[in-house]
Amino acid sequence: MDYPTLMLYLENQLDWLKKKGCGHLNIEKLPQVELKRVIQGLKTANLCAARPSEQVSQAAGVQIKELRMQLASSSVSGPPEFETAIPQFLDTESHSSEWPLTDSASEVSADSLADLEKKYCTCQRCPLGDTRKKFVFGSGNSKARLLFIGEGPGADEDAQGLPFVGRAGRLLTSMIEVIGIDRPDVYVTNIVKCRPPGNRNPTPEEIACCQPILDQQVSLINPDLIVTLGNVPLKTLIPGSPGITKVRGQRMSYQRWPLIPTFHPAYLLRNRNALDQAWEDFRSFGAQLHSGSEALLS
Ligand code: SF4
Repeated sequence: MDYPTLMLYLENQLDWLKKKGCGHLNIEKLPQVELKRVIQGLKTANLCAARPSEQVSQAAGVQIKELRMQLASSSVSGPPEFETAIPQFLDTESHSSEWPLTDSASEVSADSLADLEKKYCTCQRCPLGDTRKKFVFGSGNSKARLLFIGEGPGADEDAQGLPFVGRAGRLLTSMIEVIGIDRPDVYVTNIVKCRPPGNRNPTPEEIACCQPILDQQVSLINPDLIVTLGNVPLKTLIPGSPGITKVRGQRMSYQRWPLIPTFHPAYLLRNRNALDQAWEDFRSFGAQLHSGSEALLS
């Protein structure tokens, strides 16, 4: 987790703890993964704070001090109705054997996706083929139960040929890890596979040219859940949908796959007020996946 992402995360945790009323929290009931992340974050931030040249470390010191005080005051057990309202998360290590992150019954092999990538890596079906540096097919587990779909590659992704590797990508990775999943266990891709110049939205024509590639990826991966990030994938897969702020977190479906839209991490970096809602979405679908997908598949 890089430093800005860590700060965003800690700020979010502070807000969350404040809203829950720390004085009544039973620390035993805090989500284990989140607690571990906060503690890891404290260690990391302490290292950063030891560097006096970084102004940002002073702000971190205040945040960390406050967070420590809040955590220290959280040892009082709360009323039962409050405790049950806290989402229960499994520890990353302990659940890994209980929750298969891949669908072993799926017949898709990494080769199938690799073949698809090979087939389209020189694609010139739309003008973005002329301006891209690298084709960004997608990355992750070919049998992933969780498929994230963003809008299109940015500058970092265009340079590296991999999706979600910039600052927004690191925030996405952190959020995936907080719900107890390793990023390599999910699959991440975009609506269009080549970068729109200047980070503009892809045009409807570009999307129409590229969507067949995405559809084949979805069919091959056959995930338990698709999570769309931002408005562009939402409106591409659910035509006529209201905007993301109105429908985020709601269960929808794309063809035969359950779909839940949430904010794009780049939007979260610019609009911190939306972080709470995004965490809510991640916790919700993370809990549903951990519980065996029954809620998702019903
Ligand atoms: S964006 Fe899609 S359709 Fe357009 S050139 Fe790239 S791969 Fe081909």
